[in-house]
Amino acid sequence: MRPYVCYNCLNAKGTPGRQFIAAQPICPTCGADRVNDPKAKHVILDGKLIHFEGPHAIIREKGCGKLACGLQMANRQFSGDPDAVNCPKCKASPEWIERHKAKHTSVDELQEFDVPNVEIDPNAEQYKTPKPEAE
Ligand SMILES: [Zn+2]
Ligand SMILES: [Zn+2]
Repeated sequence: MRPYVCYNCLNAKGTPGRQFIAAQPICPTCGADRVNDPKAKHVILDGKLIHFEGPHAIIREKGCGKLACGLQMANRQFSGDPDAVNCPKCKASPEWIERHKAKHTSVDELQEFDVPNVEIDPNAEQYKTPKPEAE
């Protein structure tokens, strides 16, 4: 399973670029098929996995320094905002589930935990490894 972005579809903000995670670069929404249709090459692009970094146990507004899915942090994109995360393994972790629940049930909690999205070398992760990250 890998992240892709379909520019033939609109995202939640109403602009082109709907993210999806699938085994093949075929958009589940519009059906654009990069495997079989050369024209789809320009609308289905490789996306990036955004991983979840849980909050630091003690220090406010700091991350814990680990990705919830267990992958190394180097050269990966991650966020402390559960809504920004698209890594399926991170989203299955107890840390993410707890954070997501807290964010969507308590306004105070949300304001307290204000970790900006951190971007580490956006060009580094291009899914060169044949090893699937999320199955
Ligand atoms: Zn689409
Ligand atoms: Zn992850």
